[in-house]
Amino acid sequence: MRKYKILILFSILLFLSHCVKKKADSGIPDNVLTVLLVNSILNSSTGPCTTTESIEPIPIGAWSPNGDVFQYSSIYPVTLNKTRPMVQVVLENLDSIPGGLFPLWYLDRNNPSTGFLNKDVATYIGFNTHTSMLPYAKDTSYATSPAVSISNTVDTSQPLGVDFNFEDPAGAKVTFVNSCRKLEIDESNFQTSTALSSTSGLNHFWNSEKKLNVNLIFVNGGNGPAYPIQTEQAIEVALNRWKENYAKSSVRIKLNVSVISADLSGYDMIFDLGTETGFPGSLGGLFQTTSFVGKPNALNVFIVREEIQYGGVLGVSGGIPGPATILGTKQSGIVVFVDAHRLYSNPGEVMTYDEQVLLGETLSHEAGHFLGLWHVTEAYGDSGSIADKDPLRDTPTCNSSNDINFNGIVDLNECLGGSGTNSGGRNMMFWSGAVGFTQGEITAEQGWILRLNPLVY
Ligand SMILES: [Zn+2]
Repeated sequence: MRKYKILILFSILLFLSHCVKKKADSGIPDNVLTVLLVNSILNSSTGPCTTTESIEPIPIGAWSPNGDVFQYSSIYPVTLNKTRPMVQVVLENLDSIPGGLFPLWYLDRNNPSTGFLNKDVATYIGFNTHTSMLPYAKDTSYATSPAVSISNTVDTSQPLGVDFNFEDPAGAKVTFVNSCRKLEIDESNFQTSTALSSTSGLNHFWNSEKKLNVNLIFVNGGNGPAYPIQTEQAIEVALNRWKENYAKSSVRIKLNVSVISADLSGYDMIFDLGTETGFPGSLGGLFQTTSFVGKPNALNVFIVREEIQYGGVLGVSGGIPGPATILGTKQSGIVVFVDAHRLYSNPGEVMTYDEQVLLGETLSHEAGHFLGLWHVTEAYGDSGSIADKDPLRDTPTCNSSNDINFNGIVDLNECLGGSGTNSGGRNMMFWSGAVGFTQGEITAEQGWILRLNPLVY
């Protein structure tokens, strides 16, 4: 029973890690933008504080970073400081004009030679849809290639920038989502540290409690109901497990949960877990076509009975991160599959206590992805590459040398040691889980990233 990091499985893997872009200066100023929509949600006392802006990126040139030709836009300004501590960019192709797409960030927007690969693009390039964020970590030099240092905790922003690269930019859209929640003093002053043991970073205490709205959507259809009883109480054990994980002192996020049932014919059984397509039965289609049951100021969680593409996938997040506050993209939500959590109970029945606990771990894990957390170590283990592990310094990893049965993956029982390089199996963001095994460990830097997400207030 695996929480596959599904982005790796289905994305076209076009590695760019030896290829930092160098372009001629276009000479086109930043203000040559087509603004399609500017929308602000400034409501920080009762909900998330975010600003949202959509643009139509205008191609100004082409390059071939990996053998495929991408057209690139001019460099757009990005502001990061303690009153705007995190930014996401959501890149979307038209459904009818798919292709590879990715953002390239710049340490200095006035100097095109300062481009760097953020954690996401150092790992994969999206196809048809891609969401990225800055920062992915407190110590950004640990998260980028080449290593660059970015501060989001001071009063003024560095002259950061980002451009957008599309194989086919016709009709492409980019949405900027900026958090505007002012950082607390301890969040501004937070410093991460290297994981020396399996318990590094777990004892941190944040001074203030934050909130996250959660919109649970039971998906029903011809395949039957997602769950026999569709109330908060019916999956209380799972929800309590999730709430307990996020209430840890290293996180301190309170979940405000609401529940609805929806008849979403065609999506009660998922046969394609990709988010690059939008057709019925695909995950991308589920997220894209359900704006009417989604809530912009919440994490939207779809509870679906089963997937049949792989069998055994516990859950999937629309992205790392998923697009905060933006409904109707092919990445707008997370999904959990009820039947994959069953070991003792039968499909259609109420789940046992242990099965519900596992569901709670999956909800914690997929929400972690949506809010910007990567697996502490990917399934094939850590061999030192930026793509092998999360970009956080204080999380333990599991070196590939821990694969003692030589099956090519670091299994849960191979990552339960005591050092910072042979553990992580008990972390919420370990790549796999099991019935009867709890994984509620969350480090301070993981908590810092969760708290900075635009959805958290
Ligand atoms: Zn995962």
